[in-house]
Parts: sequence; structure tokens; C-alpha cells
Amino acid sequence: MNYRKSFYLLWILFVVGMVLMYAYVAVGAMALAYVGVLCMIGGFLQTVKFFRCPHCGALWHIRGGIPKVCPECGKEIR
Ligand SMILES: [Zn+2]
Repeated sequence: MNYRKSFYLLWILFVVGMVLMYAYVAVGAMALAYVGVLCMIGGFLQTVKFFRCPHCGALWHIRGGIPKVCPECGKEIR
């Protein structure tokens, strides 16, 4: 797992989570809501673990996307 995969996975899990929440509202099956919330929490947790600078290990801001230069150590990110 690298930071790029981690970032995409975050959004995939977020979208899946949202879809499951809508599905829950539509059909009223509580299990869908649980799975949706778990997807979002899982997406967030893996981001905290993996969305980091490969040089210094600093955790990046999720909202800012993948930076071109690490805000912590200043090294270029490819
Ligand atoms: Zn860094």
C-alpha cells in the first residue's frame, strides 16, 4: 500500500459508503447503514495509516490531496 493507492481507496470507500447509506434510506435495511459506516471508517483509518510522506512519514492533509512537495520535509513527491 502506498499513499497514492491509499488516497484513491479513501474516495472509493467513501463513495461506496454513501451509496450504501442511500440504499439504506431507500430500502430501510439497517445492515446497509452499518456496512456503509464501516466502509467510511475503514477508508478513513487506512488513510491515517498509509497517506503519509514516503520520505519522512508525515501525515498529509486528506482535503489537500496528494501534495507535489511534502509540507513537512520539503521533498518532491512523485
Ligand atoms: Zn516528508
